[in-house]
Amino acid sequence: MIYTITLNPTIDRLLYLEDELTKEKNNRLESIAYDLGGKGHHGSYAMSKLGVENLALGFCGTTNKSKLEKILEEKGINHDFVDIYGKPTRESYVILEKNISGSILITERGYAVSSYDKSLLFDKIEEKVEAEDTVLIAGSMPPGFEITDLEKLLELLKGIGCFIACDLSGEALKTAVKAGVNFIKPNRFEIQELSTQGESLVDTVKELTKTIEYVIVSQGGKGSLCGHGNEFYQIGVPTVVVVNDTGAGDCFVGSFLASLAQKKSFVDALTLATACSASKVQHKDSTSFNVRDAQNLQRKVTVEKVG
Ligand code: ATP
Ligand code: MG
Ligand code: MG
Repeated sequence: MIYTITLNPTIDRLLYLEDELTKEKNNRLESIAYDLGGKGHHGSYAMSKLGVENLALGFCGTTNKSKLEKILEEKGINHDFVDIYGKPTRESYVILEKNISGSILITERGYAVSSYDKSLLFDKIEEKVEAEDTVLIAGSMPPGFEITDLEKLLELLKGIGCFIACDLSGEALKTAVKAGVNFIKPNRFEIQELSTQGESLVDTVKELTKTIEYVIVSQGGKGSLCGHGNEFYQIGVPTVVVVNDTGAGDCFVGSFLASLAQKKSFVDALTLATACSASKVQHKDSTSFNVRDAQNLQRKVTVEKVG
């Protein structure tokens, strides 16, 4: 079983404007759509879409729970959350202007979690997760969830002996590396936290691969530099028309872990994940991709061995 943990979920409210966003003018909406904003939820979506069973864990505010659950249901994501009573899951606003690429993101900080909330989550994880499972921890931490809590969570998972995948940044990413997890996928900015001055990207990946089974540095439209054991590859992406690259990394991580669960080889998992995320960037929202489109794109993904 694959579990994803989203500590700080978000409901994305996508505001599609009729025109360009202009001050001192009534900016009319063409349409509104809702999507998942949490990175673990994005990972779950990719896995579910590829037909790989998974369960989304984490926190969820009760006052707008039905809203989040409706989106999860529409997207075919199974979940089992710890309720944060009397508070809402945060909502983010994504403003998309007509004929302008990119988006404006406005986020709330979200509810604070208590010691009791955290203990309920840890109990749930202890009860469910087994040694042969995979756990993905992705996204930011809510107020009240500190680095020491992340250390405890990683310690708990290491004690269970499951495969631990992390899509984290900053101090949380450093903590995951120190704990010795099985998979990380920093993007080209996040990796800077882990490299020493003057060190080449290849050397950073090689160094990290000594203690982490799978190290993937994603480089947006330039592909990814990937290491596993003594295998190192530069992966190149097919050329596509980019509509929205938010969530490309999350789609990559979900698809990659789904492939590992299906016992695919490292290279096959990399090329499928690259193709799924290349499909994703052609969609307006942060999650959607087309599996058939991805299967066609996979043939155009390039794999170059790095010595
Ligand atoms: P996010 O956190 O928003 O999900 P990220 O910044 O972690 O994304 P990126 O490095 O932007 O991740 O992208 C992840 C992968 O998605 C890339 O390695 C690549 O395979 C694919 N991808 C991203 N941008 C493009 C693009 N313009 N064209 C094709 N593929 C892309
Ligand atoms: Mg990016
Ligand atoms: Mg990312």
